[in-house]
Amino acid sequence: MTTETGAGKIQWQQQNLVPPDHGLPVLGEFDAVVVGSGAAGVAAAETLARKGHSVLIVERYGFSGGNAVAGLSGTICGMYMSSERHSNRPEQAVFGFAERFREVMQAAGGITTAQRYGRTWTHCHDPLAWREAADRFLSLDAIKVLYHCMVQGVVMEDDIVRGVVIDSKAGRAVALGKIIVDASGDADVAFRAGMDYTSGQDGTVQNPTMIFRLSDVDLDRFLANWGSDTICSAEVTQAIIDANASGSYDLPRAKIWIFPTPRPGQLLVNATRLVGRDGRELYPADPEDLTEAELVGRHQVREYARFLRDKIPGCEQSFVNDTGVQAGIRQSRSIVGIDRLTNDDVVGRRKRPDGIVRSPWPIELHSGEKPKLEWLDDDYYEVPYGALIPEVGENLIIAGRCLSAEHEALASCRVTAQCFGYGHAAGIAAAEAITSGTSIRNLQGEHIRELLNGDGARLDG
Ligand SMILES: Cc1cc2nc3c(=O)[nH]c(=O)nc-3n(C[C@H](O)[C@H](O)[C@H](O)COP(=O)(O)OP(=O)(O)OC[C@H]3O[C@@H](n4cnc5c(N)ncnc54)[C@H](O)[C@@H]3O)c2cc1C
Repeated sequence: MTTETGAGKIQWQQQNLVPPDHGLPVLGEFDAVVVGSGAAGVAAAETLARKGHSVLIVERYGFSGGNAVAGLSGTICGMYMSSERHSNRPEQAVFGFAERFREVMQAAGGITTAQRYGRTWTHCHDPLAWREAADRFLSLDAIKVLYHCMVQGVVMEDDIVRGVVIDSKAGRAVALGKIIVDASGDADVAFRAGMDYTSGQDGTVQNPTMIFRLSDVDLDRFLANWGSDTICSAEVTQAIIDANASGSYDLPRAKIWIFPTPRPGQLLVNATRLVGRDGRELYPADPEDLTEAELVGRHQVREYARFLRDKIPGCEQSFVNDTGVQAGIRQSRSIVGIDRLTNDDVVGRRKRPDGIVRSPWPIELHSGEKPKLEWLDDDYYEVPYGALIPEVGENLIIAGRCLSAEHEALASCRVTAQCFGYGHAAGIAAAEAITSGTSIRNLQGEHIRELLNGDGARLDG
């Protein structure tokens, strides 16, 4: 197990377990409790409810979307193949919940058409439209949505997870579920239950980024100069390196991405690279490091915005519309699962009978001055069902970026289309476990794949 805190810092208490005779108020007993309403949580809750099960979804913010919205990550990556042929038509590889969500966003005018990102494609979305789309997906009668509540403990009986402890402005209560879906992004349920986890490469995770939106951009002039690729050109990279070297700007990342948003005259800017002011790598599940990320992030946003205004045609009159509600977190804890997506699985484009999610997304590793991109041209790999199931503990399934994966593998499989997919798979598996009375860890990935195909995932064609 990786320690979360560096030298000189306190070791926060991990476990928070309450026994079944806890004596706390009970909010309710549900078929499933979903913790976290990001991409994975929304997909899991909607799938469970559509299959006829009662669901409580608990979210610490007053809206859904997680890193896609609060972190303003801003685009749905991972739906299309990459290709060196630079085809002008995106080739879609991922369907299921991701495609349903994209369609709802498109109907609401909340998402752009596919934009070129290097050798592949992505869709930029509006964060308000994302929240509204999620509210709509979660409006099924069988779903109770609880915003502004934080899960900070687990009801355990031996190794069986019976429910979660919720903290709110109203005080504490527990919610019980036959299945608990940990879609917290940080594996909070597994963590609070005392389960093992890993964190990046020997404790070093990918850099957080504070994303921002720039408004009042002359988009025609911007695009005429920048080009259609949302990844910056070698010339822009050089201009950033030169500006940084001049000492007039503080621009620690030289390869940046910029996406036109669905709103007129607006760009989404993915440029900052957050490390501590003392140069340390930050660990975002540590509140001291996350605080540092917020402070450094706001400073860097102003620096990159100034650089864009000064140096990039079309941005002269622009202003910072907003930043993410929080610094965007790509990676924190990964559970130790009964299976694990390995770096070799990704590089080797491994398909498998128990694969429940496809990913054609490159390894997009944010570390150092230039994020590394390793493409999987004209192909994809599959993520095994076992990567969602913790090694120990009954009735718990993980959905989203905290699945069991090696460091570089996670730098590929963590993007939004795949997180929708993990939520979809976790929802299908939880529904099947409840209906059949089978332990969720004993379900076969091959069977979940079949059920997902019956629910629009198109994993076999
Ligand atoms: C800077 C950045 C840029 C990115 N760019 C892209 C991109 O362009 N395209 C793309 O597809 N992907 C991108 N990603 C990745 C993508 O945004 C995330 O991996 C994805 O959103 C993860 O979804 P998730 O549901 O697994 O977790 P999260 O989005 O982290 O959602 C977890 C949810 O759980 C809630 N939560 C957490 N703990 C608790 C708790 N204890 N109690 C209650 N609620 C809790 C959180 O508030 C959150 O809403 C980016 C990520 C970052 C950080």
